[in-house]
Amino acid sequence: MEAALLEPVKKGTHQLDYLFQPRSIAIIGASQKELSIGNVIIKNLVHYGYTGNIYPINPKMDEIRGIKAYPSIADVPGEIDLAHVIIPSKMVPQAIEECGKKGIKAVIINSAGFSEMGEEGIALQKEFLAIAKEYGIRIFGPNCQGIINTDPEYRAYCDFTFTFPKPGHISIAALSGGVGAFIMQSLFDLEIGMRLYASNGNACDVSIPDVIEYYGEDEQTKAIILYTEGLSNPLEFMEVAKKVTKKKPILAMKAGRTEEGAKAAASHTGSLAGVDISTELIFEKTGILAFNNEEELCQVAMAFATQPFPKGNRVGIITNTGGPAVIATDELVNSGLQLPPLSDRAKAILHETMLPEATIGNPIDVVATGGGKHYRSAMDVLMEEDTIDSIFINFVTAPFTDTNEVARNIVEVSQLRKKPIVCNFMTNMSLERFQETAKILKDGGVPCYSFPTTAAKALGALYRYGKTRSREIGLPKEFSDINSKVAEISLMQAKKEGLSYLPADRVYDILAAYGIPVAKWWLANDTEEAVNAAGNIGYPVVLKAESATLVHKSDKGGVIINLKTAEEVRAAAEKMKDSFGAKGLKLLVQQFLPGGKELIAGVSTKAGLGHLVMFGLGGIYVEVLKDVVFKIAPVTEVEAGEMLSSIKAAKLLEGVRGEKGINKEKVIDIIQRISKLVTDFPEIKEMDMNPIIALGDQVFAVDARIKID
Ligand code: ADP
Ligand code: MG
Repeated sequence: MEAALLEPVKKGTHQLDYLFQPRSIAIIGASQKELSIGNVIIKNLVHYGYTGNIYPINPKMDEIRGIKAYPSIADVPGEIDLAHVIIPSKMVPQAIEECGKKGIKAVIINSAGFSEMGEEGIALQKEFLAIAKEYGIRIFGPNCQGIINTDPEYRAYCDFTFTFPKPGHISIAALSGGVGAFIMQSLFDLEIGMRLYASNGNACDVSIPDVIEYYGEDEQTKAIILYTEGLSNPLEFMEVAKKVTKKKPILAMKAGRTEEGAKAAASHTGSLAGVDISTELIFEKTGILAFNNEEELCQVAMAFATQPFPKGNRVGIITNTGGPAVIATDELVNSGLQLPPLSDRAKAILHETMLPEATIGNPIDVVATGGGKHYRSAMDVLMEEDTIDSIFINFVTAPFTDTNEVARNIVEVSQLRKKPIVCNFMTNMSLERFQETAKILKDGGVPCYSFPTTAAKALGALYRYGKTRSREIGLPKEFSDINSKVAEISLMQAKKEGLSYLPADRVYDILAAYGIPVAKWWLANDTEEAVNAAGNIGYPVVLKAESATLVHKSDKGGVIINLKTAEEVRAAAEKMKDSFGAKGLKLLVQQFLPGGKELIAGVSTKAGLGHLVMFGLGGIYVEVLKDVVFKIAPVTEVEAGEMLSSIKAAKLLEGVRGEKGINKEKVIDIIQRISKLVTDFPEIKEMDMNPIIALGDQVFAVDARIKID
């Protein structure tokens, strides 16, 4: 069997077109053995109806699965766009060389035995990569499944899995083939079409960001499902993801969150960020929708494949039964949606069109006897309402109604694509009559769910994406009142002295140079100097023991607050000398700021990602309450604002029970200044200010620590 020769991929097109739109495919390591990858791939290509030429390469065979085989790549008569390599790893470099000579531009290496196998494998991977670079070949894999393009023009099933998806608009990028395959199968089970698929295993060349970028440019891809396990180049990933999510949604699984990394670090910020949160933060910063649950992700994808995105969070519900609408409402509200009342105009129309027993409001209950025309009128009315952005339908197939008629009406309105619709469709799918109803809805592109909560989650996700896409985080602020020289000198000095923690006076100097307000302070060498300083600062004061080895001062009696007189300062100083020893001990005298809210702001670092900025509820219970949030630096004003509003205790910042709220603008400003400081000085590894005391308009750091490389 020999297919008609198709034009090879046009030169000058996207490099990855050779991979995703191949006109001809060679299988190096094609095999006659039924149970081998070199056989299954050919079988899949044929079974799926690949439209191009297949060239099995095997020196010992004349044909494989009825297709003419060639002893080597060089013997193939026509041009080849893509080659699969399924041979022992040691022979791969030689095969890549031959591909290069033949002018092949994309190679999928299914074979394993490379970087995942230690030293020898790493060396082999390097070797073939160098050859590939020389010839301008893009390598997909190794140790991977491959790609699938469901486009009828190609039907390229370059993969050894067993799910044969219908063409559609969801594209999948998965590092792990196992996860990729089950997501593909889940979409298939849900009768959701798929567009492109890529599972790149070791990802030595074509990376997940490359694939996502490609999907971003693919017109037929409406939404992307992503599964990664850690990101090898987070900054590159962020750059690409930010661009793609502005165009189309990326739905991703959240990375596993374990406590393992959470060592008891000396600084608060270090230990609180120990949990692996960086992937989540990357998703958040780039507008990727993260999911905890793979089933929910696939279910949600169904809505993304067909529905437009809502302009706002206002939903109208149409139902023909009470309870499920109540359950749905709970979940909708949880997802940030609202149910506004209907306008008088809408009510007037519905009073004319609905059955007398119907409830006219939001939800609109068309009641169980309601038929196609009742649903239709309710939908038309909601489509016209300026105060409604999306529609949630609850549709129970009451046996005494013409359910097909209802379904047809839902489809007709849905296909106007004016506002998104999701449908909780409750039925008995073993009855032929209702199978027909379901088919009308599905063929009509109405996302149907069998649980109200799932349907509500899908609508919630559509809303989340709409909001994400229009969110502008802005650029990091430029400050004109910062004196970075002070910080530079202090940090250099500390490095020279081999210190890892900066002494308190240097820390406070740096904060001041960066415009971060600190409570009035003086670092005294002895008791009398402390008493003098207290007089200058003004009573009452706080006395703190300062020495290089002291981390949590208050644990050991190193903080004595509310000292009102010189005598009290003197007594406190003597007491500290007794407990900590006079040698090397300094006494930090500080203005006492009672009655404020204690906040924390800090910084930690993540390899490959840079600094994470933290904000939350501070004080000595910070590790217990863990009410903190992180963002990747640099943090913009918008993001800093989001940090304040996203902690659990956000309401406390407003002031409760007659208390005054805090000055949020000042805190937002401080967060940005910390972000600026660590961006200017990457050698700062950890930093925290705990607490920052906020009382009405006053916001001052009273304890701070900076750790350097
Ligand atoms: P450490 O964190 O090393 O134990 P801190 O300097 O943070 O020491 O002090 C511990 C606690 O003492 C703070 O959380 C705060 O409640 C209180 N405190 C410290 N300094 C002041 C101050 N200047 N004004 C008011 N309270 C303070
Ligand atoms: Mg502290």
